[in-house]
Amino acid sequence: MIETNNYDFEENDGRVVSPEYHGIDDDNEVSLRPKSLNEYIGQEKAKSNLSVYIKAALMRKESLDHVLLYGPPGLGKTTLSGIIAKEMGVNLRVTSGPAIEKQGDLVALLTNLNEGDVLFIDEIHRLSRNVEEILYPAMEDFSVDIIIGKGPSARSIRLDVPHFTLVGATTRSGQLTAPLRDRFGVLLRLELYTPEELATIVKRSASILQIPIDDDGALEIASRSRGTPRIANRLLRRVRDIAQIEYNGEITAKVAMAALSRFEIDELGLDDFDRKMLLTIINNYGGGPVGLDTLAAAVGEESITIEDVYEPYLMQIGFLTRSARGRCVTKLAYDHLDIPYQNQQISDSPQENILF
Ligand code: ADP
Repeated sequence: MIETNNYDFEENDGRVVSPEYHGIDDDNEVSLRPKSLNEYIGQEKAKSNLSVYIKAALMRKESLDHVLLYGPPGLGKTTLSGIIAKEMGVNLRVTSGPAIEKQGDLVALLTNLNEGDVLFIDEIHRLSRNVEEILYPAMEDFSVDIIIGKGPSARSIRLDVPHFTLVGATTRSGQLTAPLRDRFGVLLRLELYTPEELATIVKRSASILQIPIDDDGALEIASRSRGTPRIANRLLRRVRDIAQIEYNGEITAKVAMAALSRFEIDELGLDDFDRKMLLTIINNYGGGPVGLDTLAAAVGEESITIEDVYEPYLMQIGFLTRSARGRCVTKLAYDHLDIPYQNQQISDSPQENILF
């Protein structure tokens, strides 16, 4: 059972290839979520670790150790927390860092859990420091300390909370404080998906939504989805509309190609903003290196969004590198944009281009 607690899904600019949750995903996001580890496609390493931990906890009749999931948005962190709860046979409570404003909100959430429940906190790096302090004893000793009364008559009492599993999700594990990170027993990093894995996800979603699609059509959508299942599912629905109105309803490679180029998403999944960012680095900064904040100001986007949303995919496909000196556009990207490569500043030595 999924209960939503003041869950504050962030709105964004309506970009079709944004990996973040979007109002238009509402209709199908829940029905498309895999419900078991077997149905969850890809992420083999995370899945096999998790399945061992779940089996062991079930055998010992204990709650699962706390789990931290990290990786870019839209890769299946919320989905995985639902699967953990389902496989453990317990309830799931969903909330997010920014939704828990006061210590009392978290205490109320914790004391209302049942034994073994999974509490999912999305964007856990955005919890305020004093709320986070409530979590430490809760995660470690399954108790919370609360202060009752004010002034000289104030006293602290300790309340027990049920043995629960905290599943924290974050796009940036580096921003988590050390005391919080150290209290997670299981740390799982989710990776961007390969086009083949995404094609399997597209076919699975198409069969749930009863959309006719062939293998090449699924692969075409998959390879433009930036390694992200949420984008793949969104593009599938967009292409379905065009397939229905302008073709005979079936999604083939030709239909997918025609539909997606209409949304100005190229064959690698890059949209206008990606092109603008790459072109800004090329035209204004000779291809780089350029510092993140300078780049953010030049393209009119927040540094954090560039880091979390745009860069992971551009780096994955080898179009962008991050070195200690800043961001650089690679020759691959010049070739893709059909611009003669001139940048001499990127060293050929891998040591010089170390990612951090
Ligand atoms: P996150 O919490 O990381 O932002 P979600 O768990 O909300 O991502 O996943 C977004 C959508 O992508 C879900 O609706 C789900 O249908 C789909 N999805 C994510 N991961 C997978 C997967 N491994 N297999 C199939 N579908 C997936």
